[in-house]
Amino acid sequence: MADQEYENKSVVKRKLQQGDYSLKKFNGRSVVWSKFTQVVDDKDNYTNYVACNKCIILFCFKHGSSGTSTLARHADRCFNSNCKV
Ligand SMILES: [Zn+2]
Repeated sequence: MADQEYENKSVVKRKLQQGDYSLKKFNGRSVVWSKFTQVVDDKDNYTNYVACNKCIILFCFKHGSSGTSTLARHADRCFNSNCKV
């Protein structure tokens, strides 16, 4: 089991808030990259997480092995919703 190698989302979220991790624009070919931002660590390395630009929800995403369909589906719902907070 390699679960321990992966930081869970709450840890990543806390690191983002603390400034250990930051958000960086990813210039990918897919249109989802205009709606999602790559989470990078303090050395500018890509983590296995991306964040939705609108709701800042984190998604597991590994470049090269993860597909963008989950992200696209979320973006569809998230960016097209007109609900006011
Ligand atoms: Zn969203």
